[in-house]
Amino acid sequence: MFYFRVNENCHGCLACMENCPACALAFIDQDGRRTLKHNMIKCARCGQCWRICPQRAVEFQDLLVGQWDDVITLDLVHCRVCGEALYSPAYRQKVESKLNATHEPLCPKHRQSYAASMWPHLVPGKAKPNLGGK
Ligand code: SF4
Ligand code: SF4
Repeated sequence: MFYFRVNENCHGCLACMENCPACALAFIDQDGRRTLKHNMIKCARCGQCWRICPQRAVEFQDLLVGQWDDVITLDLVHCRVCGEALYSPAYRQKVESKLNATHEPLCPKHRQSYAASMWPHLVPGKAKPNLGGK
């Protein structure tokens, strides 16, 4: 996960805050301690704080790394015919509870062949079932 960092070289001069064009830095002095604060929503990623810091304490490069961060990893249910990954067990449970029925874990391709095996008369070219009488 990448975000704004200030390392232990910081000596609290506030040059970064005073030169931030977006008012994305602030500080609070409380109980004899100074806390430097950063607001990611306000931050324009301009790098001014990084350039101005006399201590090289702003690790701004973390904000310039364009990459995907993992935010969550879930187990997966797979198609029971071909093994293609489908959805999470929790998603399946949600769908089943909404439909009030069990849901076969099948990929779109195998769901089609499953439906065809259940209702062959609906497949073009297949004979209609004998419903008796007519
Ligand atoms: S300019 Fe650098 S040393 Fe000064 S408060 Fe900001 S991060 Fe700390
Ligand atoms: S990158 Fe720019 S906008 Fe963001 S905190 Fe630093 S000086 Fe402010």
